[in-house]
Amino acid sequence: MNMGMQFLEFAQVCEHLEGIPGRLEMIEQVAAVLPRLDDDELPVFVRFVMGRVFPDWSPKKLGVGPNLLYDAVAYVVGTKRETVREAINATGDAGLAVERLLAKKEQTSFFVQELQLIEVYREFERMAAAEGQRSQREKLRVAQGLFGNARPLEGRYLARLMLEELRIGMGEGNVRDAVARAFEIDVRLVEHAHQAMNDLGEVALLARRDPDALSRVTIEPFRPVKMMLAQTGTIAAQIEDHGEVAVEYKYDGSRFQFHKVGDVCRIYSRKLEDVTGSLPDIARLLMEATDHDVILDGEAVAVRDGRPMPFQYVIRRFRRKHEIDSMMEKIELVPRVFDILYLDGETLMDRPLEERRKALEEMLGAHVAEQFLVGDAAAAEAIYADALNLGHEGVMVKVPGSPYTPGVRGRLWVKVKPGVETLDLVVVGAEWGEGRRAGTFGSFLLAVQDQGRLLPVGKVATGITDEVLAELYALFKDKVLAHSGKEVMLEPEVVFEVGYSEIQTSPNYESGYALRFPRFVRVREDKSVDEAETLDMLVERYARQKNGQGSF
Ligand code: AMP
Repeated sequence: MNMGMQFLEFAQVCEHLEGIPGRLEMIEQVAAVLPRLDDDELPVFVRFVMGRVFPDWSPKKLGVGPNLLYDAVAYVVGTKRETVREAINATGDAGLAVERLLAKKEQTSFFVQELQLIEVYREFERMAAAEGQRSQREKLRVAQGLFGNARPLEGRYLARLMLEELRIGMGEGNVRDAVARAFEIDVRLVEHAHQAMNDLGEVALLARRDPDALSRVTIEPFRPVKMMLAQTGTIAAQIEDHGEVAVEYKYDGSRFQFHKVGDVCRIYSRKLEDVTGSLPDIARLLMEATDHDVILDGEAVAVRDGRPMPFQYVIRRFRRKHEIDSMMEKIELVPRVFDILYLDGETLMDRPLEERRKALEEMLGAHVAEQFLVGDAAAAEAIYADALNLGHEGVMVKVPGSPYTPGVRGRLWVKVKPGVETLDLVVVGAEWGEGRRAGTFGSFLLAVQDQGRLLPVGKVATGITDEVLAELYALFKDKVLAHSGKEVMLEPEVVFEVGYSEIQTSPNYESGYALRFPRFVRVREDKSVDEAETLDMLVERYARQKNGQGSF
């Protein structure tokens, strides 16, 4: 009989993976573990090893911040919150600090109940389910129970899982490859199913139980899929590579995914959060515009007197949970729908854009974004000029024959906009300000992502007004993981859009690169950490810049 995987075994696998430098070997190690797991454990293991607890489409959130973690560990080892905080400061890593604290305590404890992997998951589910006024106390109680039964090594990974940053370098791509290898399945099939299901855990289960079904996996209403993304590029190159292209305005708003079945609808943000309650006007307009069951992809834009208003107005509405009515009077949002992924029970993701577009025009009475099919660069440049005159951000240049690829930032969609090049980077630390900036953070440490790791590329201090500085302090003050002198380490949750003049190689930062003249542009509230720039993309930009092609 399978006795089930112990959490200690999971921790040992993670520790082992942490010591492996090569990607292929990591994949092999994970692939060797997967077939041993039972049906309950397999999806949990797959998500845990990527540092995630729940499926990406799921609205469930653990809701554990650094303070709750400090309190739980302090209680278990019999010390003060400050001692835990100091230990984390000293190591710069919550996992290692918790491990050391538990090691000290271990000599004195007599009873430890073995933790099973599945049990840890169920406890996490209880934390996520805790709601209302008593939720923090309930979460704390569960966390205390877990740490109370954890050996030091288990504590390392429990802490990191609770903060959803495992730091072992198993990103989505590696885990996908491991699933394919473990069950001897074509990796493209695994990827296809992953795009539709938006949960590698469940895909792994299907890969084992019924691999033939992977190709038939379809997208389902009320289970959001990741948004397809765009790379920066030029009109000329896109036409040269693909001939005729579909040019659309690039609206400066906020992305949404609209799901409707019968008279029920939900709207999801780019981070796949349910924002239906904040956007009653978008919901109403789209419900009125179609009788079909659909999943639509579009941009919510703010308009005043027929002209688009800047993005800030839109994001304010997305954020707003209360007082929707009075906000609506001030900011009117309208949908611009540019894609359709599902129509009356059928997945359209694999159909070419031109077919999806036809379906969209036929089923939606209004709010379809404009699109121009053009084959020559001059005509496309003219549309680009129009877009800017109309107050849009630029244009999107799409390949008419392309499928919809969720979560992929490829060249099938290219964005063209004027002005400085910017990067979307994760804020991983900050430094206390001096002089006028005393009492707030004066500069921020930025990182790119690389297979689940976050690697610093520079600091930004310019471009931030006093007002924004105060807002940023409010945003980050509860995300402090550790202090060291003037520097703090922050929970990586926020993405900044940052301008720069040049990318340079640099021994000063872990990524091996640094930004010259970084300048703060805005907080990308609509972007999550896993949408930030990757090291590979940074390297590619660097190469292009070196080849004298400018940063585009
Ligand atoms: P960026 O956020 O700079 O990576 O640019 C991509 C974003 O542009 C998408 O995520 C959408 O929110 C937005 N967007 C605006 N207009 C369009 C369009 N016509 N097609 C696709 N995305 C668009």
